[in-house]
Amino acid sequence: MSEGNGAVVVAAEGLTKYYGKHKAVENLHLKVHAGEIYALLGPNGAGKTTALLMLLGIITPTSGRVLLFGEELRDSSFALKRRIGVVSEYQNLYTSMTVWEYLAFFADLYSVDRKEERIEYWLTTLQLADYADDYVGALSHGMRQKLGLIRALLHDPDLLILDEPTSGLDARAIEQVRRLIQAERKRGKAILFSSHILTDVERLADRVGILHQGRLLVEGDMEQLCEAAGKETQVEVQLQSVLPEVIAALRREPCVHKVLEENNRLLITTSKAADSLSQISQAITSAGGVILSMQTKRASLEEAFLTITNANVTTLADGLKDR
Ligand code: ATP
Repeated sequence: MSEGNGAVVVAAEGLTKYYGKHKAVENLHLKVHAGEIYALLGPNGAGKTTALLMLLGIITPTSGRVLLFGEELRDSSFALKRRIGVVSEYQNLYTSMTVWEYLAFFADLYSVDRKEERIEYWLTTLQLADYADDYVGALSHGMRQKLGLIRALLHDPDLLILDEPTSGLDARAIEQVRRLIQAERKRGKAILFSSHILTDVERLADRVGILHQGRLLVEGDMEQLCEAAGKETQVEVQLQSVLPEVIAALRREPCVHKVLEENNRLLITTSKAADSLSQISQAITSAGGVILSMQTKRASLEEAFLTITNANVTTLADGLKDR
């Protein structure tokens, strides 16, 4: 997992948003880099949509600012906004146009080169080509989602902001969208998306930020999130044979919490997999053990998410946020 190789594409600097007296987002700092997929995760009402709308310049923050490609985003920043592609949870599509007319309209708006070719390419890629002459209003929810995604991609934006991009899609379409997002990352695009679908987040995101009650509680890659949630990691080691000296040596290691033996297999519970793997393998080999295989089984994102957003949020937020 990485933070992408590129420059910071979008940065939130202390974004806060009040709706009347209600604080929807509080002092949000985050950065997404070129070539990186960042997922914003949070329970209902956590402030994800509000955060994304501020980053898009659609709603004005009560305080804080947004930097896009290093420049401060303002109402008049048309050239900057042109470099973003957006899919919102509730697509505002023009129902009385055909699919083709709709896409051609946006292609013209963004002065897309070789628009016919691009429209055809995306319609084929997302398997909507057979619906090109159908009215947008007659499309199913999932097809509208795909159409919104094509509209967002037509002008080849450098930043994709996707609010629940796979919501309402069937399994096959979800897979298509996942592949498409990964392909865009490979092309060096920055992708920021929000989702409730934890498997999407787990498979796609390089980094995840967890928002709860408007605050970014934790941010990091999967390993860091599991660590932040205090979830232990299990290391499974297959040995040629289990010697008592090996078990004794492992129990002396500070990073090892528990050792279970099963045939020639050891299940070792440890809190910090990244640092502890080499300590574990050293302890085993110096006690005369022969390792045949070794693999870690970390907690799922769901477990980490539920732990992080449970009742102890205040303690977690104070203890873990590194700013
Ligand atoms: P969900 O996962 O349910 O879509 P979310 O994380 O996207 O939620 P937001 O839609 O950003 O959350 O809402 C954050 C908070 O701000 C909620 O308490 C919501 O009720 C409130 N809120 C959002 N939009 C408005 C608005 N236009 N006026 C008043 N309150 C709002």
